[in-house]
Amino acid sequence: MSAADAASAAFDAARVRADFPLLARRVHDKPLIYFDSANTAQKPAVVIEAVDRYYRQFNANVARAVHQLGSEATSAYEGARDRLARFVNASSRDEIVLTSGTTQAINLVAWSFALPRLGPGDEILVTTMEHHANIVPWQLVCERTGARLKVAPIDARGELVVADFVAALTPSVKLAAVTHVSNVLGTINPIAELARAARRRGIPLLVDGSQGAPHLPVDVRALGCDFYALTGHKLFGPTGTGALWARKEILAAMPPMFGGGEMIREVRFTGTTFADPPHRFEAGTPNIAGFVGLAAALDYLEALGAARVQAHEAALLDHLSRALRGVPGLHICGEAAHKVALVSFLVEGAHAHDLATLLDHEGVAVRSGHHCAHPLMQHLGVPATLRASLAFYNTHEEIEQFVAALVRVRRLLA
Ligand code: PLP
Repeated sequence: MSAADAASAAFDAARVRADFPLLARRVHDKPLIYFDSANTAQKPAVVIEAVDRYYRQFNANVARAVHQLGSEATSAYEGARDRLARFVNASSRDEIVLTSGTTQAINLVAWSFALPRLGPGDEILVTTMEHHANIVPWQLVCERTGARLKVAPIDARGELVVADFVAALTPSVKLAAVTHVSNVLGTINPIAELARAARRRGIPLLVDGSQGAPHLPVDVRALGCDFYALTGHKLFGPTGTGALWARKEILAAMPPMFGGGEMIREVRFTGTTFADPPHRFEAGTPNIAGFVGLAAALDYLEALGAARVQAHEAALLDHLSRALRGVPGLHICGEAAHKVALVSFLVEGAHAHDLATLLDHEGVAVRSGHHCAHPLMQHLGVPATLRASLAFYNTHEEIEQFVAALVRVRRLLA
């Protein structure tokens, strides 16, 4: 037994599963096997209860009311900012902008940071493995500024070709944007190495942390990037929550993207002055309940222990990959040396959507489709893949049952 297997065996998945009410349900009269956590993760009871408690006991708007409820809601909401600052090891809570998710966080950087700085001839560097959320905002900025998108390649194993990425960091590149972990291939990118190369050339680096934060320790200071975007619903928190971490001096130089309440210092008909970051970027009433829930999710994760979670997930990935490699005619997309517990694959003679539909009838939830990564699908030469994405609440027994179900439903399509 390897050290990872031993740690995984020591991880009490049954106890952890009991924390997630939804995992106990049946689907099509079968026990649910939820292998779609990269899409959205399930929520522990402590998160559901925190949201419930907020609405039952201290629902009020933030930063406006002087009454007791207003002050409790504000301190819980601002407490979530502190919690996120600790989660990513930010130097200051003021470096955390609360957003509706990664998509909003990246768009904020696109509109408020990139748009005013870019012009014709400039370039934004991305990679082949990006999610649409880390492509389309840059394309919109390019359309308005005359800048161009440049794409760093991946190799046959689904790893970023680091030398090509570094070579692409030419003086015309004004921003690089890379995913921490590919949502299709599972590849973990060497962010610290990329950030060092970008920094040496004075190029800011944005990291899309949607798939990294749920699986890997995030230390923005150690990573050395300039922006880190994450989304709360993949981190076992509520939907409609997320954050952008950025260096203080960068945020200070960014104009607001949305105008409205909460983001101002003083408003006159002759002109408005704006609040300091991060509030400058948080116009309007936020998702207060969501952030109360997200803070509870981060507390829950911390209590589980990152090292134990990582060891369990590594053993699950190893088991899943080995089991899938044993299925005749199955091809795994993405064999990077460093991956999270996520496997995309194709099965000869069977369409991904048909397999996913049949698996659903077996109680198995997996995602099929392009995974919001059209350019990567074009690179792979396929319209869709099946993706099994795991979290720490999954078990080795579920992997066995999933692979058995896959073999069964595949026979139905033969
Ligand atoms: N980036 C990656 C790599 C993702 O996997 C996702 C969601 O699937 C996103 C960005 C977008 O996240 P959200 O829809 O929560 O903003």
